[in-house]
Amino acid sequence: MAEPPPPPTPRSSSPGEERSKGEEEERPKGRPPPPTPELRLFDTRTKAVVPFKPRVEGKVGMYVCGVTPYDFSHVGHARAYIAFDVLYRYLTYLGYEVNYVRNFTDIDDKIMDNGKAYTIEGDVYFSVDNFPDYLCLSGRKLDHNLPGKRVAVDTRKRNPADFALWKSAKEGEPSWVSPWGRGRPGWHIECSAMSAYYLGKVFDIHGGGKDLIFPHHENELAQSQEAYPESEVKCWMHNGFVNKDGQKMAKADKNFFTIRDIISLYHPMALRHYMTALKQLKEKALKRAGMTAEQLQQLIEQRTLARKNKDFAESDRIRTELSALGIALMDEPTGTLWKPSEPELTEES
Ligand SMILES: [Zn+2]
Repeated sequence: MAEPPPPPTPRSSSPGEERSKGEEEERPKGRPPPPTPELRLFDTRTKAVVPFKPRVEGKVGMYVCGVTPYDFSHVGHARAYIAFDVLYRYLTYLGYEVNYVRNFTDIDDKIMDNGKAYTIEGDVYFSVDNFPDYLCLSGRKLDHNLPGKRVAVDTRKRNPADFALWKSAKEGEPSWVSPWGRGRPGWHIECSAMSAYYLGKVFDIHGGGKDLIFPHHENELAQSQEAYPESEVKCWMHNGFVNKDGQKMAKADKNFFTIRDIISLYHPMALRHYMTALKQLKEKALKRAGMTAEQLQQLIEQRTLARKNKDFAESDRIRTELSALGIALMDEPTGTLWKPSEPELTEES
């Protein structure tokens, strides 16, 4: 009979004491820190998975743009917080001391102007033509932006893509005194100011939702670097969208659930789990079943039609077939949904 392995040696001098992972530990002086496993992150700017190397050993500065709340936040907003909270916890678990700054948009009063900007009637604009790295995150081309398509172009601007660093105050708006008259900072300024104030001009991770890459992060990067050439974000990270019925959840499309509604029905941890795991589980289930999301959707529609025609033998056949493949159907008042399940019959393994 093999000898049982020796019990693990406690690292602190309190044997037998229960310790949870990630809990802060005092290390005796002189002992090197435990080796940190390599962490690799996808960087939006270089579009590559890069090994994560903090600027200061053992410390991470991380800034994540939050929501601009017009109303109750929807679960799409929750995704950014959950995604970066998972990253924050993982970094902490790896032993890093993380300085994590998050913002919920409001107004800040810092501004810079070093000649790369120009003023028009109390507004200050950043000139994108003088910043060759403009659009290095999104990979867009300046002339492909067509800013006039969505918003009426301000013809006073030198380039339609120039963005406001400072806006003169309209009647009744909150405003601050500035060299250009009363006004407020442009909406990208806040993140440049806040991240530099709390983390310094060079920091490790800047995150946010994919929808913030353009224009928000492009503008943030441009203005920070023009104001302080040494400014640098080591890794730009972006989380994807939350889709509902194959469409991005967005307020404008009115296809969203608010966080408030969801947590009145389910435990907040269920929402967190959904955000972090369900998509991957669904992808796995489809792969295991050997079909694409479109093929599954077709089968679901075929079954809906059969049910409508009271052809229950056919509708049962489809349900049973899918269930054998590890796909469970749920008939809801709004339609049929599916979730991964334990396959009832497996052909291999
Ligand atoms: Zn921001």
